[in-house]
Amino acid sequence: MDLELLTLRDVIDALMRYDIKHCPFPQNDISKKLGSHNGIIDDEKKIVYLNEEQTQESMRKTIIHEFSHAKNYRAGKKDTEKQIEKETEIIYKKLYGSNN
Ligand SMILES: [Zn+2]
Repeated sequence: MDLELLTLRDVIDALMRYDIKHCPFPQNDISKKLGSHNGIIDDEKKIVYLNEEQTQESMRKTIIHEFSHAKNYRAGKKDTEKQIEKETEIIYKKLYGSNN
């Protein structure tokens, strides 16, 4: 697997294209069946939703995660959650020096 990690340029490109909305994620409490999410990217509406009720570390990882999706959408690349999660851990460790 070729890893093309998120760059500052990718982040700037994502910020140009998407609105970032910090909001509560009430569905996380209502039904665990839906799964618990800390971020959602709506590529059609060009909005990234971030759960405002998460730790600083989690928020950082969520932003890396969603912006990695944004980068792949722009490049027309298909990605998987597993791949994005792996890349997120690598980038986080690079930037902050540990996995948490
Ligand atoms: Zn994802």
